[in-house]
Amino acid sequence: MTVTAGVVAVQGDVSEHALAIERAAPRHDRQVEIEEVRHAGAVPSCDVLLLPGGESTTISRLIHREGIATELVDHVAAGKPLLATCAGLIVVSSDSGDERVETLDLLGVTVERNAFGRQRDSFETALPVKGLDEPFPAVFIRAPAIDTVGSGVEVLAEFDGRPVAVRQGPVVGTAFHPELTDDFRIHDLAFFETAGLSTA
Ligand code: GLN
Repeated sequence: MTVTAGVVAVQGDVSEHALAIERAAPRHDRQVEIEEVRHAGAVPSCDVLLLPGGESTTISRLIHREGIATELVDHVAAGKPLLATCAGLIVVSSDSGDERVETLDLLGVTVERNAFGRQRDSFETALPVKGLDEPFPAVFIRAPAIDTVGSGVEVLAEFDGRPVAVRQGPVVGTAFHPELTDDFRIHDLAFFETAGLSTA
């Protein structure tokens, strides 16, 4: 069966995510068709969705302007998987502490933008993640941290004592960029492994 995977492509890295989804799918006897989402109308036909990193203020402005924001909310309300990474995590949170980001409240977490300080603007670390056998090579780039976690939110990973990967129902959010290594296990986890899309 073919899974239609929408990657919100208003800003940020798209092709790396597309590749990671394409690489995760065959293990589950799935094929993937990638849909680049730039305007309203594309999301309803997507089985899974990805909201990439970039600049959360810009992404927020563009998805609201294009009418994509309400479609993301409807997608999650229908129980379909969404993976939101870095700036994507900020956009789907309940509060980012920055009024320029109109958060979608799809994850019951509050976040702090650019939380890891100047010296740690960018770094990679081997991160233990719940559900993965081996640590994940997590790349953080001006990453947010999660401040508070609401009930019903499962913490999948922590760094420096702060949550950096969470799940709530069909939504997985990571503060890091799982698409920037050739390890596709986070995409696998979010879309196939635990989302009921696997036939394997
Ligand atoms: N610092 C960015 C923001 O706050 C996020 C960075 C990223 O997505 N790599 O929006």
